[in-house]
Amino acid sequence: MIKVDEKGFYGKFGGAYIPEMLHPNIEELRDNYEQIVATAEFQEEFQSLLRDFVGRPTPLYFAKRMSEKYGAKIYFKREDLCHTGAHKVNNTVGQIILAKKLGKKRIIAETGAGQHGVATATVCALMGMECTIYMGALDIQRQRPNVERMRILGAKVVPATSGSQTLKDATNEAMRQWINNPVDTHYIIGSVVGPHPYPEMVARFQSVISEEIKKQLLEKEGTENPDILIACVGGGSNAAGTFFHYYNVPEVRLVAAEAAGLGISSGKSAATTALGTPGILHGSKTLLMQTEDGQVVEPHSISAGLDYPGIGPVHAHLFDIGRAEFVAVEDEDAMKAGIELSRMEGIIPAIETAHAVHALNMIAYKKDDIIVINLSGRGDKDLDTYIKWGGY
Ligand SMILES: *Cc1c(COP(=O)(O)O)cnc(C)c1O
Repeated sequence: MIKVDEKGFYGKFGGAYIPEMLHPNIEELRDNYEQIVATAEFQEEFQSLLRDFVGRPTPLYFAKRMSEKYGAKIYFKREDLCHTGAHKVNNTVGQIILAKKLGKKRIIAETGAGQHGVATATVCALMGMECTIYMGALDIQRQRPNVERMRILGAKVVPATSGSQTLKDATNEAMRQWINNPVDTHYIIGSVVGPHPYPEMVARFQSVISEEIKKQLLEKEGTENPDILIACVGGGSNAAGTFFHYYNVPEVRLVAAEAAGLGISSGKSAATTALGTPGILHGSKTLLMQTEDGQVVEPHSISAGLDYPGIGPVHAHLFDIGRAEFVAVEDEDAMKAGIELSRMEGIIPAIETAHAVHALNMIAYKKDDIIVINLSGRGDKDLDTYIKWGGY
């Protein structure tokens, strides 16, 4: 049975490894979130925003031409059609309602490529909340359009200037700010990472994905259960949402696509289960890429959303017990899969998502198996990367 325990562990992984200064913030959240989320009032507001603001349910689309090519029934869950272009907004909508119910006035968040920052700035505008986004100084230079989106939406974007000036430094800065403003501030984490209760909370907000897949597949195929589910994994929130209602349905295979970057053994990779060892990252015990003396190794992936040295604790557990199959997809193969999906189905995917699409070439399946791939986001944000790569 895959289920988080009271201390936030999935098997060996999870928990809340945080400085003492953060205990009050985390305890407040842990003690209140389940109760608030279970109220009819919360659910009504959440469901109505998912429907009218995010645009849910997202379609489950049968990909006819790709099904013919691969000899399986391939469906895409169209999270790319969510408002702001990816699944991330499912979580930020849930957390902003929660923050309001907790009486918070300010929101802070970290962002790497800026997708979570945009999804957070969007819901802050919606609710009239003050919003500060911490972002690595280098990422601010590299992701100009998303920085400007956040500013247009009224958010303040603060550069993190320590370390490599990327995502992990932005996370450190957001944590520091949270410690200093515990009473009026809520920290919206963007994936199934961080100290308990974040991983489970984010997974529950994203679980609307698998809830809808079950209903939609029942309508289209007469069964709730596909043979195989595939999703890409950075921190693992879209994968957790896709797998959530199937964790304990053993006949459904779960496939997680990590980013191999230039190759698992190239030294430029983000394939966490292939290269990682147990350790503590951003408040939870999980698998992470680290040196023998515990220094975090800089990850690499062509997709900013998968460029993370760790993985959510639930995925470390799924890997550990063999419940999910992990494949590591190289940059070049992901780019080609992105072009294939564009040309065969008329959908330009986010490059993160393209990793999940390529996984079709890396797993075994039977003829006419039902395969559902979570299309986590659209490719608009990645046009520059497609152009620079140029192989189309
Ligand atoms: C951020 C992002 C991801 C990676 O995040 P997860 O938490 O692993 O889902 C994947 N796809 C898209 C489109 C993203 O924006």
